[in-house]
Amino acid sequence: MVDAPAGPALPARTVRSLDEHAAAVLALAGPLPAQTVAVAAVRGRALASDVRSAVDLPPWDSSAMDGYAVRAGELRPGAVLDVVDDVPAGDTRTVRLPPGAAVRIMTGAPVPAGADAVLPVELTDGGTSRVRLDGVVTAGAHVRRRGEDVRAGDVVLRAGDLLGAGAVGLLAATGHASVEVHARPRVAVLSTGTELVAPGDPLRHGQIHESNGPQLAAAAAAAGADVVAVVAVGDDVDAVRAALADLAARADVVVTTGGVSVGAYDVVRDALLADGTTQLVHVRMQPGKPQAVGVLADGTPVLALPGNPVSSFVSFEVFVRPLLRRMLGARDVHRRRLTAVLTTDVRSPAGRRQLLRARLDWSTGTPVAELVGGPGSHLLGALARADALVDVAEDVTQLAAGSPVTAIDLREHDA
Ligand code: AMP
Ligand code: MG
Repeated sequence: MVDAPAGPALPARTVRSLDEHAAAVLALAGPLPAQTVAVAAVRGRALASDVRSAVDLPPWDSSAMDGYAVRAGELRPGAVLDVVDDVPAGDTRTVRLPPGAAVRIMTGAPVPAGADAVLPVELTDGGTSRVRLDGVVTAGAHVRRRGEDVRAGDVVLRAGDLLGAGAVGLLAATGHASVEVHARPRVAVLSTGTELVAPGDPLRHGQIHESNGPQLAAAAAAAGADVVAVVAVGDDVDAVRAALADLAARADVVVTTGGVSVGAYDVVRDALLADGTTQLVHVRMQPGKPQAVGVLADGTPVLALPGNPVSSFVSFEVFVRPLLRRMLGARDVHRRRLTAVLTTDVRSPAGRRQLLRARLDWSTGTPVAELVGGPGSHLLGALARADALVDVAEDVTQLAAGSPVTAIDLREHDA
C-alpha cells in the first residue's frame, strides 16, 4: 500500500466565539457619509444629525371638534347664542369672538381670539345663524393649544434614529422637506460553486439551483442596503478573484457564500488569502462554523459565509446585518431579543453556540418557540417559516420543553 501524497497544509484559522467574531465584523466599517434625502424617500434610513422642529405643533390654538368656539364662562344650558362667523379648516383669517356670541368651527381650524373652548356640535341644535346650547363645557375643552405637542426648536428626532412611518410623518409635520441621513450601504453578493445553476434552469444530475444569492440579496435589502450585484461563479480561484475585484469596485461590502471551508475546492478561501487582508475563522457556533472576514485589495470589507443555505442565512443575521445597520448609521444595530418558551426538548453540542430556527406563536400572549427545520444546515424546506432564532449558549447542552429561551426576533420592524 502506498501512502497518499500529502496535500498542501490548510491555512491556520482563528478560533472565536460568535460574539468575538461579530465584534470583529462590526469593526470593519463605520457609518457611511451623510446625504440629503427628500422626506418622501427616507423611510428605513438613519438620521445623520439631530432634527429640530421648525414650527410649533399645533402652530396655533386648534379646534379638536366640530362645534362652536365660545367663552366657557358665558355658557348656560338652554341659552341661545348668535353665530357670527364660520371657520373651516384652512381658514387663514384672524377671527375674533365677540362677547355673548359663538363662531361655528370645524376640527383643525384655528380657534378665534377671545374663545377659550369649543362646544361640540353634539351638545347643540347645530344652528348656523343662532345656536341653542343643550350642554356646557369648561374652559380649555376641545382646544389643542399652540405648541402643546412640539415646540419650535425642540429636538424631535436624534442622529442614529431609524426612520419609520411615524418619523416620516413627524418630519413632514415639523416643516422638513428633506433631511440628512446616512447613505445606504451598497452590497454585492457573490455565490460560488460549480454545482450552481440559475433558478428556473433545468437541473442536471449534480446541480442545484443557486439560492443563497437571492436569499442574501433579499436579506440585505430588508436590512436597508442597496444590493448592487448578485453574481455566481464556479469553483475556480481565478474566476473568484476576478469577481471579487469587480464587485469590490462597485460596492461598500462584498458578501460571498460557499467555498470557505476546508474542502479541496474551497476557492473563496484561496482567493481571499491571495488578494486581501482576511482572516479565516472557525466560529464556535452552529450553523456557521467556517467564516472569513477582512478587506479586499482595494480596502472593501468582505465577509465570506459558508455555503449551506441555513448557515448563510444565520451568518447573515448575526454578522452581516449588524454591520450593514452600522454602515446605515443606525444607533442600535442588533435585532430585538425576547424570551420565549420551548415546545420541545433541545440538545445542543458543548462548546458551540447554537442558533435554531423557530416559529413564534403569540396566541397565548407569551411567545412560544416551536423549532422548525431540524438541525441540518442544508434544510431549506422550513426556513421560510422561521421568524426567530433560538439562541443556545455554548455551555448549554440540553434544555427541556417548557424552558424559557432567548430568541432573536427576525421580523422586520418599521424603525
Ligand atoms: P460549500 O460551503 O461551498 O462547501 O457549500 C456547502 C453546501 O452548500 C454544498 O452542499 C453546496 O452545494 C451548498 N451551496 C453552496 N452555495 C450555494 C448556493 N449559492 N445556493 C444553494 N446552495 C449552495
Ligand atoms: Mg462550494
